[in-house]
Amino acid sequence: MLFFSNKKEKLKFDKNYNIIKINEDNFFADSNLLKNFFNCYRDVFSHAGSNEWGEYKKCNVCSKVYSIEDIYGKNKYEFILDIEHNYKEKIHKCDCGGNLLYYYSDKVLMEKMKLYFTKDSLSFFLLTSNKENKIVGFIIGYIDTVQNVINEKLKPVFGNFLNLENFNENINRIVYVDELGIAIPYRVGKLPLFSLLTSFILDVNHNIIDNGINLKKIWFWTSTNSKLYSLINRYKTEVVLRSKNYDHKVVISVRFKYILFKLLIFKLIYL
Ligand SMILES: [Zn+2]
Repeated sequence: MLFFSNKKEKLKFDKNYNIIKINEDNFFADSNLLKNFFNCYRDVFSHAGSNEWGEYKKCNVCSKVYSIEDIYGKNKYEFILDIEHNYKEKIHKCDCGGNLLYYYSDKVLMEKMKLYFTKDSLSFFLLTSNKENKIVGFIIGYIDTVQNVINEKLKPVFGNFLNLENFNENINRIVYVDELGIAIPYRVGKLPLFSLLTSFILDVNHNIIDNGINLKKIWFWTSTNSKLYSLINRYKTEVVLRSKNYDHKVVISVRFKYILFKLLIFKLIYL
């Protein structure tokens, strides 16, 4: 596969995983990478559960959202991943008779990705499993002003329910982590999550140093049930935003230097 052949962009963390830094050129030029990434993206967000998003299919008539489990029942995880990877989209029927289509269609994801690449400070990494030769995780974020992040990313999702808890207007620019996802079977142990986070944080740190950017905080858009949250929560976290509809969906803020320091220690010990 093409996306494993470019040695320059590979960072070796462990014999089981690779981390690949993504830029606009290597992303859109590689249709195999795109297909794999889209499959991984859908997989990460499509499962049901208290710390999951359940966004697999959406009805084109009544807009009802279905998780993978809503459609297939509680099958073994691998079975679903196989369907996602090997077959074309299967059109299921909604209770109302409408067609169920991917919640994150190729078109939706393509538009989403194009917007990310308009950010000149974008840091985007993929986690790949060597054994199965496929993408199993990703982290996407960038440096921006608090105001831009709220207007572009948070208001469209939260709308009038935007509820800033510990909002500090003096913070001008932040690192905003919009997406951090790992497919369920790969959420075991620290390595997959820490490898993605470490690659991301070090990349942002280079960006900060190279461009003389002054920033103090990093924001993560996450769920209070997630592994990321339980990890980050030890690092003097503040919840800056909580969804009023979904109590567990939050944006958390952490001091950037603190998390950089912790991850550098992790890197020294484990990687
Ligand atoms: Zn429907």
